[in-house]
Amino acid sequence: MTISIALNKKPQESVASVSGFSPVESLSYLWGSETIQEDRKFDGYTHPSAYSSKEWCARNDFFDVMRFRAGEDSYSTASPAHMKITFEIGNAMHHWIQNKWFTRFPNFFGKWECPNCHLVETGLKPSKCSSCGCKSFSYKEMYLTDSKTLTAGSIDALFKVGDSDGSVILDGVDIKTISKTEFDKLKKPNQAHVIQLLLYINLLRSAGYLVNSFKLLYVCKEQVFTNYTVYKSEDGYTEMGALREFEIMTGDYEHSLAAHLMILESLAKNIEAKVVPSARCAGCASLSSKKARSCQNSGDCFVYEGGEIYGTT
Ligand code: SF4
Ligand SMILES: [Zn+2]
Repeated sequence: MTISIALNKKPQESVASVSGFSPVESLSYLWGSETIQEDRKFDGYTHPSAYSSKEWCARNDFFDVMRFRAGEDSYSTASPAHMKITFEIGNAMHHWIQNKWFTRFPNFFGKWECPNCHLVETGLKPSKCSSCGCKSFSYKEMYLTDSKTLTAGSIDALFKVGDSDGSVILDGVDIKTISKTEFDKLKKPNQAHVIQLLLYINLLRSAGYLVNSFKLLYVCKEQVFTNYTVYKSEDGYTEMGALREFEIMTGDYEHSLAAHLMILESLAKNIEAKVVPSARCAGCASLSSKKARSCQNSGDCFVYEGGEIYGTT
């Protein structure tokens, strides 16, 4: 017999005759609640993952930030339940890679939280908590912001590879969990992922770090390990079993990074001056255009032509 249970109903309300704890029903309730998405609340910054999307629109970010600064809710926090589940499965994979794999290496760099007193220390993993003496730690990603571009992001993993004139030199890793279909086709890094890395490099530089290189680590979600042989492809990637990494040498991308920073700095200036950016997206010729219809800021967007001060029309 199949029993359907509506999302967002508390288990005890939905099936009164069932006693005890049901993991499936509990998850159904949890995904419908706000709590699971608390970390994803809009924070007033453009995020590398959003910027690198083909759908990114400067005006959309502008209106979101204006509303955020006015203390109103942003539209951008809403995401359907199936996306939340996908995000959380990706997060679980990240947690495993960070805390069970990378944490074994002494040059793994980031924030370390003591599970006992919750003190957080930044740098290499401490030998013991400086407050309570506890010897175990949980790895926390470094969350960085850049005021010049109004961008922010959390970096999956960093490794200290040296020092120069008092600045720490880091190698970065960004982890992407992908399907087997995507994994099998992957011969070069996804361009959107490369743009994300470039913005992470800018965030690190703004925080005073030097970046040596960044790697994109693709992890196939559905493939078990069948071998442990490291293979270096002529296409420029290194792989083993369900893992494939691409190295992004920072020097090769400086020109591209500078172009992206110009776009974001221009938007940041508009935001600080409250001046509405002028150009609408190519797909938003009118309110009835397909892209505008799916944009939650289209109401605001079609009030302004651009160049006006927000809130004065
Ligand atoms: S309607 Fe189009 S141009 Fe306007 S904010 Fe939305 S996506 Fe951007
Ligand atoms: Zn402690």
